Amino acid sequence: MSFVIPPPPQSAVGVLGGGEFPVRRIFCIGRNYADHVKEMGGDPKSDPPVFFTKPADAVVATGSVIPFPQSTSNFHYEAELVIALKASGRDLKTRHEAGALIFGHACGCDLTRRDLQAAAKRAGAPWDAAKAFDFSAPVGLIARIEDFPADLFDDARLSLAVNGIEKQNAPLRSMIWTVPEIIIALSGLFTLKAGDLIFTGTPEGVGPLSRGDRVEVSIGPLPPLEFAIEEE
Ligand code: MN
Repeated sequence: MSFVIPPPPQSAVGVLGGGEFPVRRIFCIGRNYADHVKEMGGDPKSDPPVFFTKPADAVVATGSVIPFPQSTSNFHYEAELVIALKASGRDLKTRHEAGALIFGHACGCDLTRRDLQAAAKRAGAPWDAAKAFDFSAPVGLIARIEDFPADLFDDARLSLAVNGIEKQNAPLRSMIWTVPEIIIALSGLFTLKAGDLIFTGTPEGVGPLSRGDRVEVSIGPLPPLEFAIEEE
């Protein structure tokens, strides 16, 4: 094939124990923990979860220092469990079918320009500028499901600290839609593919980040995710 400009490099996330997981697409679910829906002014009973995406090259490896993004004065963290898919699926119906797509799990952070999201919500406009910007998807090392089976997460808690001070801490079981339910729902909208990542939503406690902040996300036994915001 003769490309007329150099093709972009393949985005990837490291895997615990070695190797790189090639990232195809990044799907995200919003409004998936009741207390976070409430803190954002919504009603968890009447507001169904929403799906949005980020570009594959928004991923950031653990240990990175990222720039403070452009065009925001309210840059927020959202700690999330991330699912990595190893197979295709469309119109899935059962938990078993959904589970068969999972390559592994990782800690993630859905970075958000909250002021742009609030403006988009008011205008009934798309969320891309709020969610799909460069460096907006830090992801820790992916733990393979053979080594970290899904039932390890039944009683796990998700937590996030900024500069060592805990800001979010909630059980994964307080998700409104479970991981298999999210995969089933997404497979009714898109043909899921190997290489897709799914961010599964954040609990209450979201808040702003400043230049120089250090962020740590941990979920049960998964390798933690750590990143920092550039000083200037
Ligand atoms: Mn989120």
